[in-house]
Amino acid sequence: MELIEDFFAPAEGRLSILYVEDSYVNREYTLKILEQRFPDIITAEDGQQGLELFEKHRPDIVITDVRMPVMDGITMAGKIKEIQHDAPIIITSAFGDREVLMESIRTGVTRFIMKPIHMQELLATLDELRTVILLRRRLALQQSFIETVLDSQNLITILTDGESLSGANRAALRFTGFETLAAFRAKHKCICEFFVEEEGFVSGKSDWLQATSTSNVALRVKMQDVADGTTRIFSPHASLVPGFEHRYIVSFFDITELELQRQELEKLATIDPLTGVYNRHHFNTILQFNIQKIHRYNGGHTFSILMLDLDLFKSINDTYGHLMGDEILKEFTEKVQSSIRKSDFLARWGGEEFVILAPEADLKQAMLLGEKVREVVASHVFQGIDRPLTTSVGITQFQMNDTINSIMDRADRALYEAKKAGRNCVRSE
Ligand code: GH3
Ligand code: MG
Ligand code: MG
Repeated sequence: MELIEDFFAPAEGRLSILYVEDSYVNREYTLKILEQRFPDIITAEDGQQGLELFEKHRPDIVITDVRMPVMDGITMAGKIKEIQHDAPIIITSAFGDREVLMESIRTGVTRFIMKPIHMQELLATLDELRTVILLRRRLALQQSFIETVLDSQNLITILTDGESLSGANRAALRFTGFETLAAFRAKHKCICEFFVEEEGFVSGKSDWLQATSTSNVALRVKMQDVADGTTRIFSPHASLVPGFEHRYIVSFFDITELELQRQELEKLATIDPLTGVYNRHHFNTILQFNIQKIHRYNGGHTFSILMLDLDLFKSINDTYGHLMGDEILKEFTEKVQSSIRKSDFLARWGGEEFVILAPEADLKQAMLLGEKVREVVASHVFQGIDRPLTTSVGITQFQMNDTINSIMDRADRALYEAKKAGRNCVRSE
């Protein structure tokens, strides 16, 4: 992010002073001179009054006498430090007051100036403190700016070395169910404790940050939203924080909706919507994969193709209507699917034609499978029709020089033979 040059200029501004002195003469004299340079100056007559004014106005600098009625300057300084530990306090005291000097150091006062006050010395000291205070203001402004920027986005953003969390924005705390970073750290160490362990997603047990910051492929993280209990999917992006060796700023982009759309598209691209089995396009992909696998392993493996075509299906449509025909097609695939192995691959080739790829099955085994499927279909009583429905099956086994077309052509010819032989039978080529 780039900012204009004087973006943090508002941090400059005026310096306010609280001056505590019980002697009226001293107070008025010093006040007159200071006022010319620091118009934001307020005065108090003793430590108690000074403390009250400090709490109320929070001045940038406190100048105080030591010996005063009601509450002395050192006690007041101690109490102010309890309120604001880095409050700049200048103590003024008489020459040789060694005890006071030691006590001031213990209290943590910023400067010690001898009395009677040398105005030049006091002004020089104030100028010095002014530089520090303005730097501090600028730093505070920068810090709150960064926090505001990170909090303003509903994007989970954290600072981490991969193991422990050293920074978290509002979105990150809200997601993990904590009010503050300290509360998070009291119960957890790493954001990765919130990762859901699932295949295909980055594991919280792995060196997830290393993977996120070096991988070229898009990684996905699954996390549970503590607030509403939903599981969301994120794409994490890490960038090294300049000046730190192993500290990363990591943002988790919520890609849940995108991911669901992707899955939906993938389903559309591979599944036949009517029957729920794979479509022809995906079958071809699987077939190609199986052919390549055999070539890669230089033989030693095989598979067979079974092509199924429902017999006289047109008459089912003609008698019972197209909608009933659809229902029969669904029932048919369920029946076939449940009579083959999980490793066998069933797909709709088109219309009322289906294909099965049976891995590792030679022609003999494929014939047994074809006969089993034919028998299961022929003996099944389909709902809503009062006649048996049969299927013809054409079978072929893979041959070393086969392409998708050559093997499917053979299966098709075998199917044609089965039809020619009177249907409800199995043929091979
Ligand atoms: P055979 O294969 O035994 O030679 O006869 P057939 O009647 O099955 O052959 P044909 O190829 O002439 O007809 C196939 C019929 O399948 C025609 C078509 O209406 C029907 N069909 C194809 N796809 C669908 C579908 O998705 N739903 C329904 N209801 N019918 C379909
Ligand atoms: Mg047909
Ligand atoms: Mg048919």
